[in-house]
Amino acid sequence: MQFAREEARKYQIDADFVQETALPAFEIRRVAGRLVIAAPTPLETLYGVYECAEHFGGYTFFEPGRDRFDASRRVSPCAANLPDETLVPARLPLLKRRGFIQEFPFNEETPALFDWMAKNKLNYLLVWMKYYDELSEDLKHAAAVRGIEIESGHHNFDYWIPGKAYGKTHPEFFAEINGKRISPSGNAELLLSEQLCTTNPELRAEIARRMLEYCEAHPEVKTISLVPNDGFGWCECENCSKFYDKNKKGDFYSLSEHVYKADRIYHDMVRDIAARVNRIRPDLQITMVAYINYCAPSEGFTLNPGMAVHFAPYWRCINHEISDPECPINSHYADDLRKWCAAKRGGEVNVYEYYMGVNFYLSLPMIHFHEMFHELQWYNKIGVDGILTQFHIPHWSVYGLNYYLMGKAARGESETEAIASIFGRLFGADAVQALDFYRNIKKLLLTMGKCHIPYPYSLFRRTKLADYRSLLAQARALSESNPQDRFRRELVIWMEYLCRFKTFFDQMHARTATVEDAHHLLEWIHSHHDTHVFVQNRFDSYFQAIEEDLRTGHEWLHFNIDWEDDYIRRHVSLLK
Ligand SMILES: [Zn+2]
Ligand SMILES: [Zn+2]
Repeated sequence: MQFAREEARKYQIDADFVQETALPAFEIRRVAGRLVIAAPTPLETLYGVYECAEHFGGYTFFEPGRDRFDASRRVSPCAANLPDETLVPARLPLLKRRGFIQEFPFNEETPALFDWMAKNKLNYLLVWMKYYDELSEDLKHAAAVRGIEIESGHHNFDYWIPGKAYGKTHPEFFAEINGKRISPSGNAELLLSEQLCTTNPELRAEIARRMLEYCEAHPEVKTISLVPNDGFGWCECENCSKFYDKNKKGDFYSLSEHVYKADRIYHDMVRDIAARVNRIRPDLQITMVAYINYCAPSEGFTLNPGMAVHFAPYWRCINHEISDPECPINSHYADDLRKWCAAKRGGEVNVYEYYMGVNFYLSLPMIHFHEMFHELQWYNKIGVDGILTQFHIPHWSVYGLNYYLMGKAARGESETEAIASIFGRLFGADAVQALDFYRNIKKLLLTMGKCHIPYPYSLFRRTKLADYRSLLAQARALSESNPQDRFRRELVIWMEYLCRFKTFFDQMHARTATVEDAHHLLEWIHSHHDTHVFVQNRFDSYFQAIEEDLRTGHEWLHFNIDWEDDYIRRHVSLLK
């Protein structure tokens, strides 16, 4: 409660705190001319304080580290002689777990991130174990007082069984491919398609032992993952082979038609290891992921207490809502998700989203405001427990509205009110104009074709430069009416970037682009490193692939991964 009091002082909220354990969430009231925050827990009290700061105090918590304050938005809810009243009624959160997936190390922005998460009532952060290990005690404390649970996990076969430590002593722990055990590369950044011999009983015992040891050493950690290294490459030894039907390949929608399903082998391992760990530490939660060739629960698999799945609709279509039966991609993801919810026996289901396209969507537009509210309502209805999304602070001006509104939607706030409110807060008298700007971007996405998988080729091959030029003009008009506003200036840079990238794309496909053109564009992006439009290092990696194409004459579709390019070609013909 002490932290809530400190924050109330900081944001000049003069309120009485009352604990009422029967409430489903905080409630804000006026009682005898005093502001009262009633809440079931200290964390909900803290949320109530932030709610007051936004509701009455003139604050807007749109962006990490950049609180907005507008004195003209301040109101006095307890002005003289007003009758007792519930000002903000308690509302049961739509989803229990609300949060982010952090795919990068903790950094100087972490304190602002934790602060923003609490202000927006997010309570979950999934990070890679190698990053969690670098988190300072101070930051762990900062997360704890803000009610943020940190899961130490993500892709981590190589964390539990590092090639460096076990490669020599236990070669039998690693996958057998074409009759030979792989020698693990030990390259933690690029563990594409290196797996373990997951049926080996000693390997399973060793992982369970390491998990218990880890949680002993990190008593604050309550959730850990058991997630394959990224990619494919599952073991084909005699025992492991019993868990595949070589005639049963993965599916088109989950980009795994070219490999056989690994659901049975993965789920058998998770079931066994989670049971071993939970026998000794029933308080720990073991999470798994569902995507690519292990997207749906295997026959008979159940999510028992102490287990959770993070379900990732990887390369979903962002033009259709997830539950839209019309979408040939998303409808399959929706089916799988229903199956996961049906497999719950005390365990949990979280959705692992990409409300920024995916990693290599590169700040291209994803306007998912209304869709997110509908999707989260649907998740709640079918029994999903949580929503997590990948994110970056350096591209906040592009996707921040998705992140901000996800927080509102996950708490069960009203779609129309939440969207109208943030546009009013960010754009004031120009809110209508701003809504029109975003509506035009959305219209461009929806009219270029039925489905849209978020990678650059899908967008640029079906749109015209003129489309982006008119959006740029609109962004400029918005910025000119309030040139001091950084966010509006960055919308202009964003639109200018779309014009430049589209121009370059057209040159590439006309085979007139040069390496200099690629450098020139990348330099222009680098010259805006101080904005919140670009995640710079993503562009560095991506442009290496483009330059390779320019040198070799390889066709540029995406990131030069052959199997990925094959799916892109199929998307062109199937998702017209
Ligand atoms: Zn094996
Ligand atoms: Zn679709």
